[in-house]
Amino acid sequence: MNDQSMQLVLKNARYYQNGTFLQGDIWVSEGKIRAIMACGAGEPYPQGQVLDVEGLTVLPGLFDTHVHFREPGYTQREGFFSGSMAAAAGGITAYFDMPNVMPPTNTAQTLQDRIALAEQSSVVDFNFYAALGYDNLDQLPELAKGGQVGFKTFLQAPPVGKEVEFKGMTAQDDGQLYWLIKQAAKHKKRCFFHCENHFVIAQMEEYLRKTGQTENNFHYLSRPNVAEVQSVATVIQFAKAQDAKVGISHVSVTQAAQLIREAKAQGVDIVAETCYQYLTFDSSKIDLLGSYAKCNPPLRSKEDVEGLWEYINDGTISLMGSDHAPFLEEDKKMGDAPIWQAKSGLAGIEVLVPIMLTHVAENKLSLEKLVQLMSENPAKIFGLYPQKGTIAEGSDADFTIVNLNEKFSPDITKMVTKGRQNNLLFDGLKLQGRPRYTIVRGKIVMAEGLVDATCKGYGKFVRA
Ligand SMILES: [Zn+2]
Repeated sequence: MNDQSMQLVLKNARYYQNGTFLQGDIWVSEGKIRAIMACGAGEPYPQGQVLDVEGLTVLPGLFDTHVHFREPGYTQREGFFSGSMAAAAGGITAYFDMPNVMPPTNTAQTLQDRIALAEQSSVVDFNFYAALGYDNLDQLPELAKGGQVGFKTFLQAPPVGKEVEFKGMTAQDDGQLYWLIKQAAKHKKRCFFHCENHFVIAQMEEYLRKTGQTENNFHYLSRPNVAEVQSVATVIQFAKAQDAKVGISHVSVTQAAQLIREAKAQGVDIVAETCYQYLTFDSSKIDLLGSYAKCNPPLRSKEDVEGLWEYINDGTISLMGSDHAPFLEEDKKMGDAPIWQAKSGLAGIEVLVPIMLTHVAENKLSLEKLVQLMSENPAKIFGLYPQKGTIAEGSDADFTIVNLNEKFSPDITKMVTKGRQNNLLFDGLKLQGRPRYTIVRGKIVMAEGLVDATCKGYGKFVRA
């Protein structure tokens, strides 16, 4: 892309600002929004690119708050380049990547190394979660200065044989969890938790295996709702007792959302994320597709899928991620093997926005609420507002430009993610609403479905 692309006018834009939609021409230079004028008021336009977006809708750049781009360590599954290309294809202008890579993001140095790696190849902007576990608390003072969006902790023991991979990643019992939250609170950093009680899961797995259960439903039967509800309750109690800032990743159970609603009402500093899959697919997809619908937490009952909307719409759940977790074909292919041998994770960053727009078309949430969930809220919660998360003079010129009326079905063979071959869950979905342009700090990184690979390395670390 040439330098003129740094001068850009979005002509005839229907754009979102402060809870409502307005009409105007948006002027961009050097990556920032310089002015927003009445349509045609600035003609003739200055030298540079003019994009007529009549008929489309201009949203502030949308975030994916939860991805696993696997670099370094597992780049055969994904990397910053392929993952961020997929993000751009899906209308995502910035993502927050999780620390379970190799080496894990569990020290200030490994965090710096990952930032440097992503800066070489990411197409869109990014930030990270650092790992915080009971066994890397000595790193906390240094890590707390790293500019990352937060910490991530899994409530489980490091799997046997994977102690290095999981160093700094886990709090395996209530004592460790209590201590970890207490230490993180001292540094005023928000710690996010994967809330599923691993003792309950281990017990259920043992029971199901003993009874010879090998059907696909093994996956969700072994991870009952209460495993999530109990973990969320414990995190809330510890956070409340210590005035800590906490976050719950991928809430999938309405009863857990209800606990979070009550905690917020009591003044606990807690934020909750869910993912499109928990609002869209129920566990019958696991019966049908086995490992290709396997993720953690598992897809839940129809009642939970329907019930979560109430908590989206009242603001209890304020963040949306894809939990993009790509795998190789052989990681997911089961043959005659039982489902527990397959890896857990979906690679849906490219369908996140279209699926959420489809929910808008079906009146599950308003478009305004979608913008709050995917742009305003993450920017505000992670301290990036108003640099990001709004269409306003002086803000970064990040836009997700969508056609709300376009109906389409994803062709998974044409997806950008390296995990595309496993995306059977999305095959043939009937969607309405499609990102047409992804613009990051004034640069068009995706136009009409095509990502500009020359934008490799354009993405920047956005310090929180
Ligand atoms: Zn995840």
